[in-house]
Amino acid sequence: MQVADQRVVTLAYTLRDAEGQVLDQADAREPFAYLHGRKSIIPGLERALDGANAGEKQQVTLEPADAYGERSEQLVQVVGRDRFDTQAPLEVGMEFQARNAEGAVHSVRITRLEGDEVTVDANHPLAGVTLHFDVEILAVREATEEELTHGHAHGAGGHHHPH
Ligand code: ZN
Repeated sequence: MQVADQRVVTLAYTLRDAEGQVLDQADAREPFAYLHGRKSIIPGLERALDGANAGEKQQVTLEPADAYGERSEQLVQVVGRDRFDTQAPLEVGMEFQARNAEGAVHSVRITRLEGDEVTVDANHPLAGVTLHFDVEILAVREATEEELTHGHAHGAGGHHHPH
């Protein structure tokens, strides 16, 4: 069966950056399943898989624009330590939930500490990164009515929740 809208696609994949470092993976024992055509995976990968057949393997390289977007230096800010109401010592790499001017919650990472100055970065960690996927399409099936209503795949590799 071919990958198409309204179908559930089960994948094994390895995601690497340009240096070959593994960023994420799913294998046949713990695969990843998604509902195709609902923008639930990054757009460039969804496009590359469209029309492919179960059993196919693909190598997909995605520029940032087709993945997590370009980095924006406007999303990097220097703030005072007193802005953090945590008892734990601050460390580079720590993530916090922050609220922007519109009230939306997003996640920021500490990227630099110097004296009382803390540099926080609200870019997605993979923004600006070219992604290399090795993908194997393990299975393709028609989505159930329930999955179409929920907008996501159920079962192995998909969502598990009581209804
Ligand atoms: Zn559901």
